[in-house]
Amino acid sequence: MELSEALTHDVVGIGFGPSNLSLAIALEELCGTTGEPGPAAAFFERKPSLGWHRGMLLPDAKMQISFLKDLVTFRNPASRFSFVSYLHAKGRLPRFVNNQDFFPTRQEFHDYLEWAQAQLSTPVGYGCEVTGIRPAGDDTAAAPVELLRVEVRGAGLPGGSARLHTRNVVISTGLVPRMPDGVERDERIWHSSEFLDRFREWETERAGEMRRIAVVGAGQSAAEILRFLHDRLPGAMLTAILPPYGYAIADNTPFANEIFDPAAVDDYYYGSDESRDMIWKHHRNTNYSVVDDEVIKSLYERVYGDEVKGRRRVEFLNLARVEGVKRVADETRITVRSLSTDAFRDIDVDVLVCATGYDPMDPAPVLGELDAYCLRDARGRYRVERDYRILTRPELRCGIYLQGGTEHTHGLSSSLLSNLAVRSGEIVNSLLTRQG
Ligand SMILES: Cc1cc2nc3c(=O)[nH]c(=O)nc-3n(C[C@H](O)[C@H](O)[C@H](O)COP(=O)(O)OP(=O)(O)OC[C@H]3O[C@@H](n4cnc5c(N)ncnc54)[C@H](O)[C@@H]3O)c2cc1C
Repeated sequence: MELSEALTHDVVGIGFGPSNLSLAIALEELCGTTGEPGPAAAFFERKPSLGWHRGMLLPDAKMQISFLKDLVTFRNPASRFSFVSYLHAKGRLPRFVNNQDFFPTRQEFHDYLEWAQAQLSTPVGYGCEVTGIRPAGDDTAAAPVELLRVEVRGAGLPGGSARLHTRNVVISTGLVPRMPDGVERDERIWHSSEFLDRFREWETERAGEMRRIAVVGAGQSAAEILRFLHDRLPGAMLTAILPPYGYAIADNTPFANEIFDPAAVDDYYYGSDESRDMIWKHHRNTNYSVVDDEVIKSLYERVYGDEVKGRRRVEFLNLARVEGVKRVADETRITVRSLSTDAFRDIDVDVLVCATGYDPMDPAPVLGELDAYCLRDARGRYRVERDYRILTRPELRCGIYLQGGTEHTHGLSSSLLSNLAVRSGEIVNSLLTRQG
């Protein structure tokens, strides 16, 4: 990537997953129509190439949203970056339709994302981590801040680092993997986000050592990993540790799904605290700690099939929590507490997979000293305007926009793909309007 430290950018995007990819497309589409030169934009992604949850691209794993909720269609159904355009370009459109399935595999969606980014002309710096943002220029605390300095580190950059000036940033650094309290990752203790990479390493180098594996968690990733291990390691004993009695089904029925419609963002944003609480209470089960019915059924079929063959391979420890994990020689010892009897039990495994979910995006590490300009509510959460711009002290004249981390202001779709096309359009319009 060619970087000009002398150039003042209009916008720098931090993180290049689907959210900022969608934003980059919206910038090209919405600004490319005027005939004027578009805003100067650059994006940075710390991974070496575009990658969307590569560690969970399990064979057969399906998308949890319709293919029409792609990077663009809800904002611009005629876009050349749509999933339908992708299918057309790949020569698969008729067969996709014949397949009669709204939900592509995750692998196909990943291929779509790669295809879409290859059509873009906006520069993306891969292998470049943004390490902080600070006011550019005058360091006097009360001086107006008209420009930001974005600090980037990357082996491919001249001298290993760069500093860019910009009027706006859009932070989209994604969900943060969560481990059980007190449990650290190591070569035998994995988070689901790294599952396939770790599994492949073991499969090539020490397959025979994967005899006993425990999977902790009750959500989609936990169930998918258990099903995958059951298929891939017929000789292994698997233990599923889950706090509920059984995997709960994800509600993707039509009325409930309206919670992810673009209009639902206004209902949430302008709603009362009580209505927001009600939305979470009633509709959490559309996405959080739930599993698609197809995955539940196919997993149950496998477990029942084992029983018919007289060989149980999965032990379910339900109503159970991991209380501690320690290394004993080459083994990992998990202490599990039963929530029904309060009894403790130790289990020794070769590998422990923690499918224990994610925390929402946290912009603070990237904001660095700029964080002090950002206003927070009584509960310490960022105050965010409807156009996804953080409310800041008046002396900061630059825009800090969030894609993610706005569950408390914009609702359930904040970390998901559902509303990404419309949200990107709203952010681009805000950038253009506020810039004048
Ligand atoms: C396994 C899995 C499956 C999912 N499936 C669905 C689904 O089917 N439907 C749905 O709606 N949602 C799904 N989700 C939710 C998920 O959050 C969204 O799919 C999507 O990833 C959001 O895109 P994003 O760009 O905001 O974040 P991400 O895809 O997480 O991208 C953020 C990027 O920022 C980069 N980054 C982080 N910090 C820095 C930094 N300091 N400098 C530079 N780069 C940085 C990261 O490397 C990453 O590539 C799924 C989540 C998981 C974990």
